[in-house]
Amino acid sequence: DFYEFLHRTEKSREWLKKAVEVMPGGVTANIKSFAPYPIIMKHGHGAYLEDVDGNEYIDYLLAYGALMIGHNHPKMKERIVKQLEEDGTNLFGTPHEREYRLAKRIQSYYPSMEMVRYTNSGTEGTLLAIRLANAYTGKQKIAKFEGHYHGGYDKVLFSINPDPKKAGPIHTPTPIPESKGIDPYYEKNILILPFNDLKGTEAILNEHKDEIAAVIIEPIQGGFIPATPAFIQGLRKITEQLGIILIFDEVKTGFRIGIGGAQSMYGVKPDLTVLGKVIGGGFPIGIVGGKKEIMMESGPKHSSDVFDVSQGKKTTATEVLFHSGTYNGHPTILAVADTVLDILEEEGKEVLKRTERLKKGLEDLFRKRGIPMQALGKGTIFSVVLTEKDVKNYRDLQNSNLSLRKKIDYLLLNEGIYTKPMNRYSLSVAHGDREIERTLDAYQNVLYKKL
Ligand code: PMP
Repeated sequence: DFYEFLHRTEKSREWLKKAVEVMPGGVTANIKSFAPYPIIMKHGHGAYLEDVDGNEYIDYLLAYGALMIGHNHPKMKERIVKQLEEDGTNLFGTPHEREYRLAKRIQSYYPSMEMVRYTNSGTEGTLLAIRLANAYTGKQKIAKFEGHYHGGYDKVLFSINPDPKKAGPIHTPTPIPESKGIDPYYEKNILILPFNDLKGTEAILNEHKDEIAAVIIEPIQGGFIPATPAFIQGLRKITEQLGIILIFDEVKTGFRIGIGGAQSMYGVKPDLTVLGKVIGGGFPIGIVGGKKEIMMESGPKHSSDVFDVSQGKKTTATEVLFHSGTYNGHPTILAVADTVLDILEEEGKEVLKRTERLKKGLEDLFRKRGIPMQALGKGTIFSVVLTEKDVKNYRDLQNSNLSLRKKIDYLLLNEGIYTKPMNRYSLSVAHGDREIERTLDAYQNVLYKKL
């Protein structure tokens, strides 16, 4: 089967030989690479990807969950073409009306986002949210959870050792930088919390309450390990009591878990929220929003009162929080975002139902084959986790049968099912009953004939 992979992906291999000469590893993000080499894609349409060798795949990677409207949704394409024909790129470097209109529409689903700012990615979004929390509280440290991802920069790129034996005590995880070259200054200002462990989390927060500006969390880790309701409610309570800002990183879960994200599902209001991925419909975006009094930190002082004709009390650079970006709130991308919401309002619920069907179908297949498995997740993302034990955090996940999971993912590539080995499965509005049947058939083939 390894030879089948090599045979099917000859052109990818050839292409990569050239690419490694000009890009380290031949890729533009390390995560895009896998052994022996990544498949080079050429075209995406609906639920499908086509690679440079002409193989077709049902796409469950969906650009790490971003493409909930699938590839090239006709309504999105129509809107963007109309947009370009009527207004061109429309980048003004000034405020524009669409920023306001989209903000209002986002707020109807995320009422906790009383005010918003746009960024160009999820990474920039969490960066701004953390800066806001630092500025608002005047405190320095950030607490995040083991195995949670918030972007690839020095303030947050810490976790625990992936080997559970080296990960430190369960209730007080030992932080390690997740990259070479991280400024050691940030290691002093990060605390790693144990996910779904309220007692452990409370103990750390209590101990460092005077230094912690914010707790940042993926309410559903990686989109598939949910916080228990008791945990997330407890976390909300304790952060409020201790004067710590609670940031929900909903870059992955926003619009995917349901249109109102994880906060709507749990009924918990964070102080700040970061959105991204899905709302961009395939284009880069981030949205930060939250409590008015915190968000106001980022506003120029003179415009907080529109009747202040003096326009600009003297402010020094240190009095305002810096937030900028040439492409923030890009008019074309905000038009796409508006259309994404139209599409999700119309077709989103069906994706939830089909995801449930696929999860149940897969669980049945594994059960019949005698392999312990859970299709773990909420909304329209899940992961195939090979264990019968409860999976409540990163360590439980590391203790599942990762090598078998990896093997299955590789075999599925030969069957035309694409997700980067070991990634999650995300669905889109273009994943219909036919795609689900084909996926279950492919799994049947792998589980019974190839393993
Ligand atoms: N937060 C979470 C939860 C994410 O999943 C991601 C992207 N995988 C990010 C932040 C970073 O977003 P981006 O890749 O748009 O910078």
